[in-house]
Amino acid sequence: MSNAPVVLVTGGSRGIGAAVCRLAARQGWRVAVNYASSRQAAEAVVATITEAGGEAMAIQGDVGTAADIAAMFAAVDRHFGRLDGLVNNAGIVDYPQRVDEMSMERIERMLRVNVTGSILCAGEAVRRMSSRHNGRGGAIVNVSSMAAILGSATQYVDYAASKAAIDTFTIGLAREVAAEGIRVNAVRPGIIETDLHASGGLPDRAREMAPSVPMQRPGTAEEVADAILYLLSPSASYVTGAILNVSGGR
Ligand code: NAP
Repeated sequence: MSNAPVVLVTGGSRGIGAAVCRLAARQGWRVAVNYASSRQAAEAVVATITEAGGEAMAIQGDVGTAADIAAMFAAVDRHFGRLDGLVNNAGIVDYPQRVDEMSMERIERMLRVNVTGSILCAGEAVRRMSSRHNGRGGAIVNVSSMAAILGSATQYVDYAASKAAIDTFTIGLAREVAAEGIRVNAVRPGIIETDLHASGGLPDRAREMAPSVPMQRPGTAEEVADAILYLLSPSASYVTGAILNVSGGR
């Protein structure tokens, strides 16, 4: 059995997460592909990896649910027996609303999936990777957003606030575990062509916003995956607490 390093990618079934899974496998990682409901898409990512000679496994679990998170990490333990990387990628937006229209339910769901889920997943990863817990070290990459800087007025300020929380969480956790063999970094994607925009009711958002991007185009999931894989890799051995904009200058 291979003893190649193992990375868990939350929301690995589609978009940026799927691109991370495919690139990680090409770079020698064994990959745990988490998904919430898109089983077929997750299994397609696993098939692409295994057909190319890599090793991957799809794991269902809603990162907005503590029990699902615990079960997901237990499945990684059983199947792979080690964990070296975590990509906290799963995230949601919602329909455009002003703050004075938002319900408690909407805001709580946004924060539960984007923030609480990421923090709980990182905690599970630290329990497995930290030298304090007899782990061999590892790397965590959180997926933030340029929204954390720009604020997303009239679209989803709650989403932007959730990503600002991810930025601060990245800095704090990086310092908390820096001496325990774990690096923690984040990327801030800009406008990336994925299904995310359609899930917020704006399927043409990436194309429509292209003129507002200094590089005049949306980015691809693969371009974000490249940055994430760099931060996961030993090439970033002295990089922790960093937040890398992948936004075409936006
Ligand atoms: P996407 O195409 O909508 O894909 C989202 C992925 O997250 C899917 O694999 C989905 O799984 C998974 N997911 C959603 N809710 C989940 C939950 N509760 N538990 C587990 N998995 C869940 O989105 P994307 O554009 O790739 O976005 C990925 C990350 O990048 C997010 O954190 C997003 O905020 C961030 N981001 C995206 C952009 C952009 O322009 N696209 C810009 C900045 C930041 P299912 O398929 O099972 O639903």
